[in-house]
Amino acid sequence: MVLAELGNQLSAALRNLNESTIVNEDTINTLLKEIGNALSKSDVSMSLIIQMRKNIKEKVKLDQIAAGLNKRKIIRKVVFEELIRLVDPGVPLWKPVKGKSNVVMFVGLQGAGKTTSVTKLAYYYKKKGWSTAIVCADTFRAGAFDQVRHNAAKGKIQYYGSDTEKDPVVVAKAGVDIFKKEGTEIIIVDTSGRHKQDSELFEEMKQIETAVKPDNVIFVMDSSIGQAAYEQATAFKNSVKVGSIIITKMDGNSKGGGALSGIAATGSPIIFIGTGEHLTDLDLFDPETFVNKLLG
Ligand code: GDP
Repeated sequence: MVLAELGNQLSAALRNLNESTIVNEDTINTLLKEIGNALSKSDVSMSLIIQMRKNIKEKVKLDQIAAGLNKRKIIRKVVFEELIRLVDPGVPLWKPVKGKSNVVMFVGLQGAGKTTSVTKLAYYYKKKGWSTAIVCADTFRAGAFDQVRHNAAKGKIQYYGSDTEKDPVVVAKAGVDIFKKEGTEIIIVDTSGRHKQDSELFEEMKQIETAVKPDNVIFVMDSSIGQAAYEQATAFKNSVKVGSIIITKMDGNSKGGGALSGIAATGSPIIFIGTGEHLTDLDLFDPETFVNKLLG
């Protein structure tokens, strides 16, 4: 189910609440069932849905709501808060520090949109007046360095990579060292992905992390990933210190819900969403705005 459809179903569930003649435990159970079904069809993991239903039940105690208060309004508010909680782990967002070198390492499976997002983020900071650079530590995929070269040229962003060195750890360290020496403020390290999670990939991530000591590790996840999201995000979280998430391809017909499960798995906030293939198709993520939009 695409995100817009999820929004429609959530809105319909809330409308049913509004139109019910009385509000009792049955009304709430029906509402929670409808919300649960909508989220489940959007690939939000079952454990998250159960937790959310439990939270809503705990927060809405019908017999304790004083007479005269609008029960429907209170329930709607709690549902809204819990939907926000689903996309907001409540962790402060990572912010780079002006005037020093901030190293950011990108991780994610091949095809997730890593390299595209690396360039978008570099461009985003460049436009804001930061000095930025990209290090291509993907020596696994043929053409990865060419893609970085091409993307970086489009955004007039400095880059480093090697056509001959096959050890990604060596390339990552060399690139970061060069840009640190130059005092570049945002140094973004693009790493390789594989089609599937495997131990070699995670070992490589760990070694690069040790070598470049990133200030933030950004996990890039395709919004259409579906039910595999929770497991995938957990696997990355268990090998490197994931600090933030970028969800890509939010412009497509994605279910999106799988991505929401990724947040729960990592406990990390979404910082940006990718909304297209162009350099500027990167939007800051705000949980409240997201839920507001979702509910139309
Ligand atoms: P990587 O293997 O993770 O580095 O993935 P790439 O950055 O090469 O992206 C894979 C494909 O997804 C490319 O065709 C990108 O243009 C496309 N892509 C990446 N981000 C987005 C996005 O936000 N929206 C859309 N529509 N396409 C995207």
